[in-house]
Amino acid sequence: MASPRLPRSRSSEGRSGVPTSVTVGGDRGEQLLRRVLAGSGWPLTAMDRAGAGDQDGSGDQDVVGGVDDGGPLRHVAHLPSRAGQQVDWPEWVPSPLRDAFGARGIARPWSHQAEAAQLAYAGHDVVVATGTASGKSLVYQLPVLARFLEDRRATALYLSPTKALAADQLRAVQELQLPDIRPAPLDGDTPMDARDWACQHGRWLFSNPDMLHRSVLPRHGRWASFLRRLRYVVIDECHTYRGVFGSHVALLLRRLLRVCARYGSGPTLVLASATVAEPAAFASRLTGRTVRAVTADGSPTAGRTIALWEPPLLPELTGENGAPVRRAAGAEAARMLADLVLEGARTLAFVRSRRGAELTALGAQRALADVEPDLAERVAAYRGGYLPEERRALESALQTGELLGVATTNALELGVDIAGLDAVVLAGFPGTRASFWQQAGRAGRARERALVVLVARDDPMDTYLVHHPGALLGAPVEGCVLDPTNPYVLAPQLVCAAAELPLTEGDVSEVFGGPAAAAVLDELVADGALRRRPTGWYWPSARERPAGSVDIRGSGLHQVALVEAETGRMLGTVDGGSAPATAHTGAVYLHRGASYVVDSLDLDAGIALVHVADPDWRTDARSTADVEVSRVLRHRGHGPVRVSFGEVLVTSQVVAYQRRAPDGTVLETVPLELPEQRLRTRGVWYDIDQAALAAAGVSSVRLPGALHAAEHAAIGLLPLFAICDRWDIGGMSTALHPYTGNPTVFVHDGHPGGAGFAERGHAVLDSWLTATRAAIRDCECRTGCPSCVQSPKCGNGNVPLDKAGAVIVLSLVLDALGRPAAGRSAS
Ligand SMILES: [Zn+2]
Ligand SMILES: [Zn+2]
Repeated sequence: MASPRLPRSRSSEGRSGVPTSVTVGGDRGEQLLRRVLAGSGWPLTAMDRAGAGDQDGSGDQDVVGGVDDGGPLRHVAHLPSRAGQQVDWPEWVPSPLRDAFGARGIARPWSHQAEAAQLAYAGHDVVVATGTASGKSLVYQLPVLARFLEDRRATALYLSPTKALAADQLRAVQELQLPDIRPAPLDGDTPMDARDWACQHGRWLFSNPDMLHRSVLPRHGRWASFLRRLRYVVIDECHTYRGVFGSHVALLLRRLLRVCARYGSGPTLVLASATVAEPAAFASRLTGRTVRAVTADGSPTAGRTIALWEPPLLPELTGENGAPVRRAAGAEAARMLADLVLEGARTLAFVRSRRGAELTALGAQRALADVEPDLAERVAAYRGGYLPEERRALESALQTGELLGVATTNALELGVDIAGLDAVVLAGFPGTRASFWQQAGRAGRARERALVVLVARDDPMDTYLVHHPGALLGAPVEGCVLDPTNPYVLAPQLVCAAAELPLTEGDVSEVFGGPAAAAVLDELVADGALRRRPTGWYWPSARERPAGSVDIRGSGLHQVALVEAETGRMLGTVDGGSAPATAHTGAVYLHRGASYVVDSLDLDAGIALVHVADPDWRTDARSTADVEVSRVLRHRGHGPVRVSFGEVLVTSQVVAYQRRAPDGTVLETVPLELPEQRLRTRGVWYDIDQAALAAAGVSSVRLPGALHAAEHAAIGLLPLFAICDRWDIGGMSTALHPYTGNPTVFVHDGHPGGAGFAERGHAVLDSWLTATRAAIRDCECRTGCPSCVQSPKCGNGNVPLDKAGAVIVLSLVLDALGRPAAGRSAS
C-alpha cells in the first residue's frame, strides 16, 4: 500500500446544507477509505482531490475529485460529529419514571424528546421525525408511562409494522421495571390464553395493524374495557405505511378512532418516523387528524466519512443490446469487506438478497484466505433468521470482535442492537433514505470517525445519487404517499367498518372522507354488500365478519399463493397483478432471497407451483401494454408540451418470456398464453408537439427510442421523490397516442385506483424530470445501459432505446415547463 498523503485541512458548507470538513490527523474513517481506495487499484490522488474539493468556495458538493479521473470514487462527504442537546425532564415526569430511566443510563432527555413528549402529554397528536438512533422510543414512553402512573386505569396501544420491532419495544418497557404497567404482546403468534390475559389485564399492548384489523376491531365488544380507557395510540416507523398498505392503514386508524369514540375515549396519537419530506402533512393524511411535527434532532451523532462509489465499467464485457457492464456491486463490496477486515475494522456489508450476502461473504473469505487465513474465519454471512437468540449471538460476536466482517440482507435493518462499528458498506442504495441512514447508522463511535461506503448498482437511481450527493445527504425530498380516497381500498374498509358499527351520515362525512366514501357506499348498497336504512349503512350478516377476507397488505386484487410442489408448503404470496410477469410458468422467482423455478401458474385457482432451483439464467417476461385515458383530473399546457394527471385504464398481457445468461444474452424465447389484464388506476403523462421534437433533432425514426428511454429513466427516479417499490409504478410511451394525438409518455400507479405515486410525480414533475435527465447525462456509457435507460422490467426487452434522444426530449419538456402555464383543474 502506498503511503497516504494527507489532504490539507479545510471545511466547507455543502450546497445541500450538509457541513463538510476534513481534519488532518488520525481519522479512522479516512484511514479506512484510503485502504479501500488502495485496494481498488486506483491512485490515492482521488482522495486528495476529494478532500480539497470545493476550491472555489461555491459550496457545490457535486464537484469533487474522482469524477473525472475514471476512478470509482465519486464523492466524499465528511459529516462532523454532533454534540447532543440535553434538557431537563419536563416537570410532569414523576420521580419513579426519572429514576427508572436513570437506571437505564438516561440521565436527561434530548431536546427533541422533551419537546415531542410535552406535546403528547398535553394531548396534541405529534409525529417525531428525527434521525436513526435518536431515541424516538422515549418520546412515547414518557407521556404514556407518566399517564399510567397518574391514572391506574389508563391503557395504550403500540403499533409497529413488524413483529420483531414490537417485541423489542415491549422488552424495552419491561426492562424499566415499573410497577403495574402490564405490557403485553398481541400478534399472530400470541397464544390464546395470553390473548385473553392481554384483553382482560393488559394496559399497554404491543401489536400491529394486522391484529387490529382482524382481531381487535371485529370483536371490539370483547375489548371494550381496554378501548374505553385508551389514552395513547403509538404508531411507530409510520413511513412504512405508504402506497396501498398505507391507504388501508389510514382507513384502519379511522375505524379504530370511530370505535373509541363510541366507547367514549379519544386517544392521543404519537407517531415516529424516519426523516422524510413533510412529516406533518404525511402523518395528518395517515391519521385524518392534524398532527404536529418535531424534526429538530437534539441527539448526538458520531462523525462519519461517507464515500459514494461507482464501480468501473468492464471494457471486456458487454450486456444486453451491447450495453457496457459495470463491476457488480456485490463483488466490489466483497473486496472492500476483505480490505476493511485486514485493517481490523468491524464491518457490516448490506447486500440486497440472501444469496448475494452469502456470495459477498464468500468472496471476502476467499480474498482473505490468500493473505491472512486466520481472518477468513472471522467473516460470516447473516442468513436472515429472525430468532432473537440468533440475533443476540451475532450482536455479541460483532461487539466483541470475534467476528470482524458480516455480510447481511436488510434483515438486520430493524430491531437489532448493533452500533458503534468501524465501517458499513452498502452494495446498492437500499431504496429509501430512511433505510440508508438506518444501515449507515450502524457505524460510528463517540470519538472515532467511521466509514460508510455506498457502492452504486447499475440502476438509474444509484447513478443519480453518486453523482448528486446532495439528494442523499441534504434535506429529504422523498415523500410518503398514500390515498385514503382510493375506491378499491375504501370499499373493503367501509364494509369492515359497517360490520363493526353501522355507518352514519356523520361517519361518512367526518371520518371516512366525504364524497369519495359516499360514492363507494352507493355501489356497495347496489351490489348488496351493505344495506341502507334511514339510520345509516348496515352489514347484513350478524355472524360473518368481513375483515378476515380483506388483505390490508395487498392491492385488493386476489393474491397468488406460491406453493412448493414437492412438500405442499406455502412460501408466500404474489400480488395477482404482478404474478403473470414474475411467476409465470418457467420463471426464476426470488423469494426472501431464495431462488425457485415456477412449474405452473394457475391464475383462476390463485396458485403458482414452484420448486427450489438456482439455475444459471434469469427470466424476463415480454409483454404488450396499452394505456387509455378515462378522465383528466388536472391539465396544463406549456407551449409545445402538455402535462396531465388523471384516471387511466392500463391493459397489459404477458406474451412470452426470455431465458437470459447472466451477461444478458438471450438463450431462448418461450411463448406464454396468459389472459389480458386490465388495471384502472391513475397516471401522470406529458405529450409533445411532434414538429417541436423534429426541430429539436428528434426525427420520427428516433422518436420511439427517445421516449422509451425517457420513460424508463423517469420510472427509475420516481422513488427519489415518492418512496415506492418496483411494482408500485409502471409506464408506457408511444410516438402517437390516440387521446393526445401526440408523442406521449405515461407513468402510472401499479395498483387499482392508484396509491398516490403518479399524483406525487405530477406535483414534483419539474424536479423529477430534471433528476431524470441528469441521471441519463451523468452515465458514462455511450448508448444506454442498466445504470441509465435500460430497465430490468421492460416488457420490450429494452428495444428501442435512444439515450441521446431522451436527453433532447427531456430538455424540451423542461424548457417548456419553465414557461408560464395555461391550464385547468378538474374534480
Ligand atoms: Zn448508461
Ligand atoms: Zn420498456
